[in-house]
Amino acid sequence: MFKLSKYAVIAALPTNAAQSLCFSTKTGEMLLIPTKVFDFIKNKEWNNLKFNELLELARTELLVCEDEDETNFIFKFDEMSQNNSILLSTIQPTANCQLDCHYCGQVHSNVIMSDEILQKMLGRIKHIILTNPNYKTVCITWYGGEPLMALDCICKFYEDMFKFCEENSINYISDIITNGLLLTLENFEILMKCKITSIQITIDGPKETHDKRRITKNGKGSFDMIFNNLCKVVHSEIYSLYKPKIILRINIDSTNYEEVPILIDFLKKNNIFNKVNVFFAPIIEWGDNEADKVSLTTKEFAEKEIEWLILLYQNGQIHKELLPIRKSLNCMVNDKYAEDYDSFGNIFPCYEFAYTPIYQNDDCIEGNVENDTKPEDKKIAKIRNFKNEFLATKNKCTKCKFLPVCYGSCPKKWRKGADGCPTFKYNIQDRMILQYISQKTI
Ligand code: SF4
Ligand code: SF4
Repeated sequence: MFKLSKYAVIAALPTNAAQSLCFSTKTGEMLLIPTKVFDFIKNKEWNNLKFNELLELARTELLVCEDEDETNFIFKFDEMSQNNSILLSTIQPTANCQLDCHYCGQVHSNVIMSDEILQKMLGRIKHIILTNPNYKTVCITWYGGEPLMALDCICKFYEDMFKFCEENSINYISDIITNGLLLTLENFEILMKCKITSIQITIDGPKETHDKRRITKNGKGSFDMIFNNLCKVVHSEIYSLYKPKIILRINIDSTNYEEVPILIDFLKKNNIFNKVNVFFAPIIEWGDNEADKVSLTTKEFAEKEIEWLILLYQNGQIHKELLPIRKSLNCMVNDKYAEDYDSFGNIFPCYEFAYTPIYQNDDCIEGNVENDTKPEDKKIAKIRNFKNEFLATKNKCTKCKFLPVCYGSCPKKWRKGADGCPTFKYNIQDRMILQYISQKTI
């Protein structure tokens, strides 16, 4: 007969014990069901279940066949649906950045991608698309160094690649991660014309805190310039016309976590809170730089994070990713054609490798666009073997409820034996309740 899926997460409603939320990490769907249903399932009292309850539980895969080996089924299903239709390409067009944040693991230099490398990289991405008809969309992420220091490169790439995409019926989507110092109205308009639909900017707290952390190379604070740019951008006609998603990232450790509510209040007072999506990120080590030595533990972060998520909700912002979604590929590492290109033309499997000294070696560099013209013949970096290693070993993830929405999280951390568990592992029930309340109030 049936059994409750081992990938079901249950949260009792605090206001009504007779009702519970049940979230399936296999489908990413959540149901509200009478709490007594779980006893019916446990005692196999199928006659006590209403037909529509049974149907919904089966549809969301919360109820599965008694003899189903669910973990094996997940692996088999993912193997069969490997045909990824989105090509992820990350471009780091300059090795330069104006900032000198203590947690950054990159070594910066005054190098911008040359036209020659740009053309070779364009040729490579086009070749990947033309020889792999499964790709229907190309997603270009601009990352740094500081990508706005190489704005010309972004424009030239866009003009060429967008035309190619139109001619070959490929969707073109693009986003940028920038420190915001050069995000003037003029540059913002250029980005919009280059079809960039999502912009991520980091502010690490109120001015005093931010200015101690995100300092320029000559030791000055960056808050005023970034915040002024942000205000001008979100209140501009160009913003109203294009309506890009603006993500405001707060990098958090034990030294600034108490200031998150102050920053949110400041955003509200300046009338930009409702124009940005606030995103909380723990500070992690980057290239063995020990930037995480004063970080909160994942559990501590998760406890605080739920308070901040509730704060966002109380102020009218519903976080878009309260509940994790089903995934089979955890990141670019698992698609051998998802590549990261730095300004020297180096090809990496992970966007944290470029400009980071410990990754400048044969195990991590997959080639260079100048010499390695055939992506199909490239040398595959060791980290790309993550999925095989993952499946071949008995590890904590294969027994974990969150496997279908996490898949071991970040391969880079996983290979180093670091605890890569995402925060939702520790605050999922509160997230479920918040999601339920938010939906009810929409
Ligand atoms: S990384 Fe953590 S949360 Fe993710 S599947 Fe593994 S044990 Fe579970
Ligand atoms: S390995 Fe980790 S850091 Fe690198 S792209 Fe994947 S998730 Fe990101």
